Amino acid sequence: MTDLADIADIGADARRGGFSRHGYDRAELELREWFTAEARARGLDVECDRNGNLWAWWGPPGDGAVVTGSHLDSVPGGGAFDGPLGVVSALAAVDLLRGKGFRPGKPFAVVVFAEEEGGRFGVACLGSRLLAGAIAPDAALRLSDVDGVTLADAMRSAGLDPTRVGADAEALRRIGTFVELHVEQGRGLVDLGAPVGVARSILAHGRWRISVSGEGNHAGATLMVDRRDPMVAAAQVVLAARRSAAAVDGARATVGRLIPNPGGTNVIPSSVDLWLDARADDDTRTRAVVAEITALAEAAAAEEGCTVTVTEESYGDTVIFDPTLRDSLSEALGGVPALPTGAGHDAGILAAHVPTAMLFVRNPTGISHAPAEFAEPTDCAEGVTALARTLETLAR
Ligand SMILES: [Zn+2]
Repeated sequence: MTDLADIADIGADARRGGFSRHGYDRAELELREWFTAEARARGLDVECDRNGNLWAWWGPPGDGAVVTGSHLDSVPGGGAFDGPLGVVSALAAVDLLRGKGFRPGKPFAVVVFAEEEGGRFGVACLGSRLLAGAIAPDAALRLSDVDGVTLADAMRSAGLDPTRVGADAEALRRIGTFVELHVEQGRGLVDLGAPVGVARSILAHGRWRISVSGEGNHAGATLMVDRRDPMVAAAQVVLAARRSAAAVDGARATVGRLIPNPGGTNVIPSSVDLWLDARADDDTRTRAVVAEITALAEAAAAEEGCTVTVTEESYGDTVIFDPTLRDSLSEALGGVPALPTGAGHDAGILAAHVPTAMLFVRNPTGISHAPAEFAEPTDCAEGVTALARTLETLAR
């Protein structure tokens, strides 16, 4: 809790509430410095890999390491726990283990992944995706933020060499097992009356950019019958997302961002970009929801004399976490429950390559990606104890 309090001023967002900390912006760079100092104060050796992820090694680096950590960036106006709780818990677990005289019997690292939320460049889990080769370096480097700054520019400004990004087999080989502790993003543990649980699965999920083009014109001088208004079509896409997802068991679809161009009160926009986040239990259901929303978007655009394009910006299939590791962790922690999550994580990207597990800490409201996100200090302490016990078992 002291560590979380230490960083409570960094990236605090007075306008939105909560925190806005995005890949390689001032706040995130400051958090990276904070982490580096905290890790060094514990005698860990900190290095940055080719894709901007920070590694703090307890002892000499090597293949097959026990790795724990999370991310420090946030969504716009996000909570204090999503990401940072996993990082401070990792450092606290190292303190706990060291305090009882434990020395890892194999390589051991705390990791901070870059731009996990995709809050700046639009693609979630960018650092782990690049490392694992799950996104092409060229495509990643071309991603740009709202000001037109590309990932390549941002990395260069942060002192990193963008020509070196991409699949990093060496870094991947170094991860023997990855364990990410995270605040739960839902009420699963509240309903089960448990402070800590392990992850069972992550929903299939992706992001799509929907661009509707019409005719920019004067809000007063243009008769209603003469309009080709992309905002009207966009509004129907928002409603289509709600309807389509509601019709499929367990599916979720959200339009959380919509940008009219040029964006004036007395201007019919010439185009509107909106972003769809869609998720469901499996690939088939997720694709079906997106296909239906796409068809409805095309019909709505045609009715308004507009055109629409739908572009997939990122996608990840359902993740089932390593069942052997999951069950052994659950047992070692006294039979804590295993539960699914609708949120994506770096652990979900790495799960395709190495045995990966997640520990969840109870969130009394279930609210996440918002300033109200919370975990009780006593539950956070339970999380650290569980993480330390897990790491001790894995690194013995
Ligand atoms: Zn997170």
